[in-house]
Amino acid sequence: MPDTSTANLAINAERLWSNIMTTAAFGGTPKGGVRRLTLSEEDKQVRDWLAARAQASGYEVGVDQIGNMYVQRPGREPGRAAVAIGSHLDTQPTGGKFDGILGVLAGLEVLETLDEAGIVTEAPLCVVNWTNEEGSRFAPGELGSEVYVGHVTLEAALACRDAEGVTVGEALARIGYAGAEVPGARRFAAMVELHIEQGPLLEAEGLTIGVVTAAKGQQWYNGMVSGRESHAGTTPMTLRRDALMAFAELALAAEQIARAHGPDGVGTIGMASVSPGSRNTVPGEVSFSLEFRHPDRDHFGRMRTAMRAEVERIAATRGVAITLDAIWSMEPLSFSRDVAAQIAQAAAERGLPYRNMTSGAGHDACAVASAVPTAMIFVPCKDGVSHNEAESATPEDCAAGANVLLHAVLALAGVSHND
Ligand SMILES: [Zn+2]
Repeated sequence: MPDTSTANLAINAERLWSNIMTTAAFGGTPKGGVRRLTLSEEDKQVRDWLAARAQASGYEVGVDQIGNMYVQRPGREPGRAAVAIGSHLDTQPTGGKFDGILGVLAGLEVLETLDEAGIVTEAPLCVVNWTNEEGSRFAPGELGSEVYVGHVTLEAALACRDAEGVTVGEALARIGYAGAEVPGARRFAAMVELHIEQGPLLEAEGLTIGVVTAAKGQQWYNGMVSGRESHAGTTPMTLRRDALMAFAELALAAEQIARAHGPDGVGTIGMASVSPGSRNTVPGEVSFSLEFRHPDRDHFGRMRTAMRAEVERIAATRGVAITLDAIWSMEPLSFSRDVAAQIAQAAAERGLPYRNMTSGAGHDACAVASAVPTAMIFVPCKDGVSHNEAESATPEDCAAGANVLLHAVLALAGVSHND
């Protein structure tokens, strides 16, 4: 039977926008972006804001040993696993106001909307702020959610160090967020993450909602090309073992491989360092990063195999040594069909244009999906720009995403009637 009591329920769009702008001040930059590195003083400020706001509304605030924050609103059946609404409040060093933050603040908005409407869900609801999604101060990213599902041990996570040598454990203690709760002890029946798309598709197609059904696999490498340093004036071209020229060939090969598995395949070399770095010396070493992504397992595997073959070929033909160390990977994943179906239905019922999508980026939802039925909602961001101070989303799109979140969560948690 259709539920008439909640069909027209909507979040408070002005309050959501106001909260986005309020929290953007914690680490706000002159260019209108946000610099809120995980477990920094600015991160403490936004965490304190969330905790104060939650406590003022009477919600339980739990913190686990990796600093994940849980804001729980009780359901009619207290023993039932909660439906989680999770994302992150940390940002890139030159990040924006929306990446991650939208998902947490929309979760808070859902809870407050239900309070005002006097609606009690069957299952409890829990807004989660996952620690260190970005991975820019402490690598790897998605740390809090990876510890929650047990992919990374608590001990290993607490021992990660930033560039100054400070560990995650020390940083947590310093800002007062080394909680007592055991990560993973709090069980969830499902999780929904609302996030800006961080890509251009929704905007280009004039759509408001992305129902995210899958995420691209990712393979990260650290690489090194070792040739021979020699005099730039006296070493004939035929006798050189030039690490940079071999690297240049490798870089173009990586691009070719990604293009050959397009349009979904992507390959990026984001860092490269030439040594010794002298105008008059043939470069002896180049260290570099390389990553590939693809949503299809077969293509993803073939990209990696092809790269290994190219590395061997280039090393042999140019007389250099090339190492390619696989430092992190995530297989392509499918999100929960059931959770995605509730998101699609919520969008359809609100008359919002939507499409199914694959996430090209990693998210906490990707980690959580291995243990909890999970899916994501995307909303457009201007020009697809993210990890940038210019990151921008409209109040209307943020509100639309939060309303889809509200109704998907209501369907997953079940609604009781108070009267
Ligand atoms: Zn994010």
